[in-house]
Amino acid sequence: MQLADKFGRPITDLRVSVTDRCNFRCFYCRSANPENHMPSAHLLEWDEYERLVRILAGMGIRKVRVTGGEPLVRPGVEDFIVRLKALGVQDVSMTTNGYLLAERCDRLLAAGMDRINISLDSLDRHKFERITRTKTFDQVIAGIDAAQSSRLRPVKVNAVLVRGINDSEVEAFAEFARDRDLIMRFIEFMPLDADRAWTRDMVVTGAEVYNRIAARWPLVPVAHERSETARKYRFADGRGEIGLISPVSQPFCGFCSRIRLTADGKLRTCLFSKEDHDLKPFLRGGATDHEIAGEIVSIVAEKEKGHGINEPGFVPPSRTMVSIGG
Ligand code: SAM
Repeated sequence: MQLADKFGRPITDLRVSVTDRCNFRCFYCRSANPENHMPSAHLLEWDEYERLVRILAGMGIRKVRVTGGEPLVRPGVEDFIVRLKALGVQDVSMTTNGYLLAERCDRLLAAGMDRINISLDSLDRHKFERITRTKTFDQVIAGIDAAQSSRLRPVKVNAVLVRGINDSEVEAFAEFARDRDLIMRFIEFMPLDADRAWTRDMVVTGAEVYNRIAARWPLVPVAHERSETARKYRFADGRGEIGLISPVSQPFCGFCSRIRLTADGKLRTCLFSKEDHDLKPFLRGGATDHEIAGEIVSIVAEKEKGHGINEPGFVPPSRTMVSIGG
């Protein structure tokens, strides 16, 4: 069977958060307090994740992105990737801040990981330190180097642009993509920050990024699947690519194929869902796979038509990005 919602959108992609802990404290995501994470006892066990993914793979989930928090801080994540591939998941990817990547890249590859996205919000060491509230710039660049020298190609690097913080670096990021022949993706800042500081004028739109880059280097559109989050362009005169992820200025909900599983076992049908659905009582209460599948079908049927950021009366979800899984 193919899981679908009541609007007929096929659901093929799962984001799995394996922890809400993170070794960074990016100001647009987490609060400054390093201790604001759930007790370990609330987290799903690897066997529970595996069971849910097995059920979901039987319902048409083809892509699984392992995320968090920072997925590389949870011991055992490589073994989890081995299990995902053994379940027949076609595309297993990870989003990471890159801090531990240089030392872990080989193991992730040996486990069967297919793709990777690395977050990097500034090419200026001092600004990077202010954004992440860590001194880890060299390690992240080493992580990107490790990914680029592996078979993981093309490597995607994600930057969240925030007006007045790093929007001056759009062209520098484009040069970074060209120099290194990688995909540089620009993500609009969304109202999912723990400090609730988001305002619309802090958002740097995909259109602005496109115009600024295209003014320097001619861009050529690259074909993309309808459900993909990024509008992609390559440089007409050379290497590298950019991706524009514009959930605020150009929502792409109409073709959304994603659901999310939080580290504490809640199924979310949208980043901005007002409620999430606890699967832990089913997992731990003796439900059969068939019963869990039935529950998932009814949850997914009610997937939101859109995220509603631009609707009057929009209220951000109570969970922030780090506790949902980006
Ligand atoms: N720790 C990993 C990392 O840094 O990539 C994975 C988790 S992180 C929550 C996933 C992605 O969400 C990152 O690219 C991060 O920049 C992005 N993100 C976090 N808060 C965001 C926000 N308020 N708006 C847009 N993107 C955000």
